[in-house]
Amino acid sequence: MFKKILIANRGEIALRVQRACRELGIQTVVVYSEADREAKYVRLADEAVCIGPAPSAQSYLHMPAIISAAEVTDAEAIHPGYGFLSENADFAERVEKSGFAFIGPRPDSIRLMGDKVSAKQAMIRSGVPCVPGSEGALPDDPREITRIARSIGYPVIIKAAGGGGGRGMRVVHTEAALLNAVTMTRSEAGAAFGNPAVYMEKFLLQPRHIEIQVLADTHGGALWLGERDCSMQRRHQKILEEAPAPGIPRRLIERIGTRCADACKKINYRGAGTFEFLYENGEFYFIEMNTRVQVEHPVTELITGVDIVVEQIRIAAGEKLGLRQRGVQFNGHAIECRINAEDPYKFTPSPGRISMWHTPGGPGVRVDSHAYTNYFVPPNYDSMIGKIIVHGATREQAIARMRIALSEMVVDGIQTNIPLHRELMVDARFTEGGTSIHYLEEYLAARHQD
Ligand code: ADP
Repeated sequence: MFKKILIANRGEIALRVQRACRELGIQTVVVYSEADREAKYVRLADEAVCIGPAPSAQSYLHMPAIISAAEVTDAEAIHPGYGFLSENADFAERVEKSGFAFIGPRPDSIRLMGDKVSAKQAMIRSGVPCVPGSEGALPDDPREITRIARSIGYPVIIKAAGGGGGRGMRVVHTEAALLNAVTMTRSEAGAAFGNPAVYMEKFLLQPRHIEIQVLADTHGGALWLGERDCSMQRRHQKILEEAPAPGIPRRLIERIGTRCADACKKINYRGAGTFEFLYENGEFYFIEMNTRVQVEHPVTELITGVDIVVEQIRIAAGEKLGLRQRGVQFNGHAIECRINAEDPYKFTPSPGRISMWHTPGGPGVRVDSHAYTNYFVPPNYDSMIGKIIVHGATREQAIARMRIALSEMVVDGIQTNIPLHRELMVDARFTEGGTSIHYLEEYLAARHQD
């Protein structure tokens, strides 16, 4: 096992990884930008290295600074968290070439999955069902593009091969709008992701977002840890996740989960990963794979008892998976609410000093956050400042516990989306379960009209 790990991230996930390291008796090095100098989790680490000023490009995305921090502190491995450099194949490669273990997949797996066209092709080869669409990147010939769209059937969605974070997508309802949409998405993709390639998929009308968590070791072992329902999204950003997904027959989940674990073996995957699917009318359609730990990993931890971050570290250290598929048991129901520093209805970011931070507790309640009273939320990064995760024997009990937890939670000094979560927990469609990826936006639009 490693003696020392460097955590190349910030905020709640930097603290989460630190806790896993402590549990394993591993020393931690945290890197931080000048904006995060005061953060308590930085002081909790065994060592901390300032890697640059507040802008991410000069700190959390600055590869040479991170690698030299690992060198000067004698760290053996680097955990990238999520976001920032976590899905950057060049970074993973540089980490490994510099003699450190990268706590994540092999660089070529990241590269394969980072290009959504090659990812889809790999999934089709591995027997994972995909959204019907173009066989690869769209050709230049407009007649050919029109032909592909006709054969798929409208509406279609044009997606950037290098896209991410819900950007680089355009829905097309009619042939008249098609070619212009392709041109626009291409030029945006070129500017935003450095790759103008786009592809086409059938646009599913009322799908749910269901994802499968996997773990794979370097000895040919791979397993799946159930699913998460992440359909509550605004602008393709998840705000609330739960496991298991309400109302989906277990045999369908088992079938797709097994396919995912098999695909890991076929592509020689290493580490934790997530296969994201759209689910509609009893069918799963692969959309992309995330080659890192996800924000919503705790809901899976609460229903399986598996510590995903600990497993990531063990796998990177060359250990075999500690359990087999038949040892994975699913218990009860878990829900996560992401706490964002933002206006709950207008969604404008609300950075600043937290004058009061009081977190809930009690049976089945977990809070993952680096925030505290007097913590200053810097304006430079993502607005998520923590997560409340609850577990209950049933979905009803989990919802009841989340309602209580949200009622106990106090955050003063900045705005948060807690009021929105409180509303959702008593919303009839949410409590019924199984809403589509459009539900939250419809809910917000209706609320706006009242
Ligand atoms: P990103 O990497 O930017 O998150 P994804 O491919 O995962 O992109 O898609 C993000 C979201 O966009 C999905 O969760 C879903 O809401 C929507 N979406 C993507 N593809 C389709 C599709 N074919 N039909 C309907 N919605 C889609």
